[in-house]
Amino acid sequence: MVVEGIDGSGKTTFVKKIVEFFKRLGIKKIISTKDPGGTKVSKEIRKILLEERDEKIDKYTELLLLYASRIQIVKNVIIPKLQNDFIVVSDRYNISTLAYQVSGRGIKKKFIKYLELFLPKILKPSIIIYLDIHPKEAVKRIIKARKLDKIEKNSFLFFNKIRNSYIKLSKKENFFLIDAQQSIKKIDKEIQKILTNWYEKYT
Ligand code: ADP
Repeated sequence: MVVEGIDGSGKTTFVKKIVEFFKRLGIKKIISTKDPGGTKVSKEIRKILLEERDEKIDKYTELLLLYASRIQIVKNVIIPKLQNDFIVVSDRYNISTLAYQVSGRGIKKKFIKYLELFLPKILKPSIIIYLDIHPKEAVKRIIKARKLDKIEKNSFLFFNKIRNSYIKLSKKENFFLIDAQQSIKKIDKEIQKILTNWYEKYT
């Protein structure tokens, strides 16, 4: 399953809570991962993408690095864990590419389709939890906790485009749009309901 949303929407917070929820149910075979991130090489790629430097990263360089990172995670973490009956909870996955690179950066979908061919298989997440939040509120939250990274310094216009793209994509059947401007407690309850329904069907 995947947690999606713009930066500051609460993905880190709720990926942790999802893992805790399943652990409370007695499930030991559960892991969380992060895309980009999640393996040593992916973490290094993530650093390249987020580090401030006086050279602009081209949007296609960004896309290729994101896929390089994703291939590492899918091959080395997600597929082996799924094959071993683990529940895998990922902070971002391919929907982020559609929202950030296609809608945000204006990259044509055909490039993404081509890059998907490099993945060992197309993984369809069982559930996608999309945390919906106004970009202004998201930035306020990040600033309260830490410094903004390079991606987070993009304009509200950029994040509005991404948010609108997420909202459009969230019409799909295994997508759950959650109002992320509610309290952590309320969101947690909503997510737990979704997970319980899914788990009852899955087991
Ligand atoms: P992301 O991983 O999507 O960037 P985080 O989980 O790191 O987002 O959340 C950003 C900040 O907002 C954190 O300090 C977190 O504690 C806080 N936060 C997350 N969800 C909520 C919420 N519903 N209400 C208030 N603060 C929140």
